[in-house]
Amino acid sequence: MKVSKVKIIEKEKIKDLLKEASQEWDVYVPQKFSDGDVWMDQLPEDRQLLDDALENVMLEDADTVISPKDIFFPQLETILKFKDDKILETPEFSQKLIFGIRSCDLKGILFSDDFYSRNFEDIYYKSRMQNRLIVVIGCLKPPRPACFCTSANTGPFAEEGFDLQLVDSGNSYFVETGSKKGQEFIDVHKKFFIESDENFDMTVKEIKIKAYDSIKLKVDFQEALNLMTQDSFIPEENYRRISERCIYCGGCLYVCPTCTCFNVFDNFNDKDKEGERLRNWDACVFEGYTREASGHNPRKEKWLRTARRYEHKLKFDYKLTGMSGCVACGRCLSSCPVNIGMSEFIQEITEKRKIM
Ligand code: SF4
Ligand code: SF4
Repeated sequence: MKVSKVKIIEKEKIKDLLKEASQEWDVYVPQKFSDGDVWMDQLPEDRQLLDDALENVMLEDADTVISPKDIFFPQLETILKFKDDKILETPEFSQKLIFGIRSCDLKGILFSDDFYSRNFEDIYYKSRMQNRLIVVIGCLKPPRPACFCTSANTGPFAEEGFDLQLVDSGNSYFVETGSKKGQEFIDVHKKFFIESDENFDMTVKEIKIKAYDSIKLKVDFQEALNLMTQDSFIPEENYRRISERCIYCGGCLYVCPTCTCFNVFDNFNDKDKEGERLRNWDACVFEGYTREASGHNPRKEKWLRTARRYEHKLKFDYKLTGMSGCVACGRCLSSCPVNIGMSEFIQEITEKRKIM
């Protein structure tokens, strides 16, 4: 995507911009909480709470614990309510400003856009995502040591799919416009953006090259995709060794921007003949995920569920859509209690050496 002329916003204006934007949008932005964790969370509507929350906004070096996927695919959501024979679906429509996500997480959203409309239209996803504006912040350095975005072409800056992109230049950000919607946002909030006559293309280019060089973890991502998509290539030994260590906590899947498994269940009040249907995050590594009503489980053995996870990300998604189900954010490795990560798996199969 060709970006239009670069504008500038001073860093000290960001909070005021978010405050003004929150009158029109539900604003999601990384915030640091008292335990030190950084979450992509919604700014509160209450004015006092909003001012407090703005003090906790953290854009640079923000290592958000989980990906922004819970904005459009919450950990737990009510999808319909029912009483007697009446059913009320409960999609959630609101304008969302998703401000300060990383380019790998943007790729995760683009992947999800495809997933949730591929075979059927998921109205809950669609209702949450159809009125959105995405502002990416490029990474001058990796937010977590396990990032390997340059190997997968998913970062440290976005090339498409964003509305606006911030490029850190010290006391201010260069602002790249990636869509008409992004331009309209700038027009509405023009008092925060500085027009410049100078051509900053070279400066932005230099910043991006430096940022690219700061990502030290490199893997042969394309070779891994090539290997995995050969039907004759089955790295069973790797899956078995991972399964010996994996404690099947599901952490890596919950933090992953592209994991979409869910479960659906009903809460029913028999006395009042009413209830609700909910869905919550599930994980393909859990034994119960593939257990059938008969009790038969096609993936009872742990290593088969591990295989499913890696094949889904690096084989089936890629074969079907041309998009990998891994966007190289590194969260799986950062969050795993026994240090299992996608980057190591890729190194093992491409370099044919044991790492884990
Ligand atoms: S976080 Fe680690 S231990 Fe937990 S399921 Fe994932 S790979 Fe297994
Ligand atoms: S598999 Fe790991 S590195 Fe890849 S997108 Fe998911 S959490 Fe990120």
